[in-house]
Amino acid sequence: MPSPTPVLTNTPLPAPTPTPLSTRTPIVIPTSTLSPCMARASFGDPAVSPYVLPYPVGQSYRIIQSYCDPDGSHVVQLAYDFGMPIGDDVTAARGGIVLELREDTPDISSLDYYNQHNYLLVRHKDGTVAFYAHLKQDSIEVEFGQNVEMGQRIAKSGNSGMTGGKPHLHFGVYWSYPLTEGDDMAVNFRNAGGQLDSRGGLMKWKYYEALPY
Ligand SMILES: [Zn+2]
Repeated sequence: MPSPTPVLTNTPLPAPTPTPLSTRTPIVIPTSTLSPCMARASFGDPAVSPYVLPYPVGQSYRIIQSYCDPDGSHVVQLAYDFGMPIGDDVTAARGGIVLELREDTPDISSLDYYNQHNYLLVRHKDGTVAFYAHLKQDSIEVEFGQNVEMGQRIAKSGNSGMTGGKPHLHFGVYWSYPLTEGDDMAVNFRNAGGQLDSRGGLMKWKYYEALPY
């Protein structure tokens, strides 16, 4: 038996209900239109960050170069530069093991020392590696292979390597080791007192006070 032929009706479709403005899905900019750096710049909730600011509680410093900053050396980096006078304490943003260090470069911000900054690498338990750079000559207080605790003083800030004449601490975190450009990650800090941008990142020219944690 053939199926009965359905009876065709000519009922018009109901008119679409307009979506109220407030419930429309916001326009999402495809990440392909962002720079590779900005596409990686999603910082998450600072309250659950495994990092604290890399300086002692009570201290406050200004960001002089932020992440993906088009005006300097961070165009393709998610790092922060904290403007810090030579000799101020740098503390571990997260606990881990000292992976590499260098401290023989003078604090004279010279092209002669391009890429020869004093620095410290600390590997965390999840395999990520923190990079602390432009440290003061002969100021590193930890040794290769040593375990460091979050908040422990590890070095003094300096002006070694190419700092553009502005003493500062360069801080960034990488997924991989050896450090490879593009393998850095977006981090913020659970104890940063100060305004964050809409992505949860720290902002250029803003001060951030290290709050108790
Ligand atoms: Zn930097």
